[in-house]
Amino acid sequence: MPLEKTDAIVLRSVPWSETSLVVTLWTREFGKISAIAKGARRLKSPFESALDLLSLSSVVFLAKTGDTLDLLFEAKLQRRFRSAQRGLLPLYCGFHVAELTNGFTEPHQPIPGWMDWLTHTLQALDDGCCPATTTLRFELHALRMLGLSPSWSQCVGCGESVDLDRPTVALTTSGGGVACPACSPLQRNVLRIQTNTVLVLQKASDSALNDLEFSIPEEARSETRFVMEHLLGFITERRLRLLPFLEELKR
Ligand SMILES: [Zn+2]
Repeated sequence: MPLEKTDAIVLRSVPWSETSLVVTLWTREFGKISAIAKGARRLKSPFESALDLLSLSSVVFLAKTGDTLDLLFEAKLQRRFRSAQRGLLPLYCGFHVAELTNGFTEPHQPIPGWMDWLTHTLQALDDGCCPATTTLRFELHALRMLGLSPSWSQCVGCGESVDLDRPTVALTTSGGGVACPACSPLQRNVLRIQTNTVLVLQKASDSALNDLEFSIPEEARSETRFVMEHLLGFITERRLRLLPFLEELKR
């Protein structure tokens, strides 16, 4: 089997043996891969800091077939994620983005654009962009890339436009969007939220990736997080470990 060479972002690493790690990497060409990095836990590791979480590294690995883990031969650091120097919040946001990438994707299934979007988001956190806005935009654009973008204006039950002039609106996390008054009693997992929150989420969802003008109004921060926590929890079918560390994004 040939050796593969690619750029990778380190999403996760867990001890495999006394001297080795299993690393989960997001790569442009191969999607998500999990590989054994022999010797990575040694004091003088051949990988140095190239396998630190959220690092961008160029890697060489041997792809195995079936459920067998790939084998990592080489990793050279290209860019270190430096947000820890700015405080814990951007760091936790970076970990959250990595956890979502891991949770949303299947092994060996590349998603066009994901690598660029992930790199762009980590760079924005490093550059000191607003963690709340940067994180929300990652989440919403990630859902779009997966074809899971919620419906913010059309009822998920009947397809009619939902009246966004009322003060509150029903949003179903399992149905994937807003529901009109006639359909909402038939939906499950319904949240009753401020209409303004839906408008903010819609705007964040539609804003261009390089639109630096958009930011979440302070009064909508808490409820946008509330909605995203429920939506992401439903979609990933797991308790996301980093969510409790992102409470500050609500303020
Ligand atoms: Zn309806």
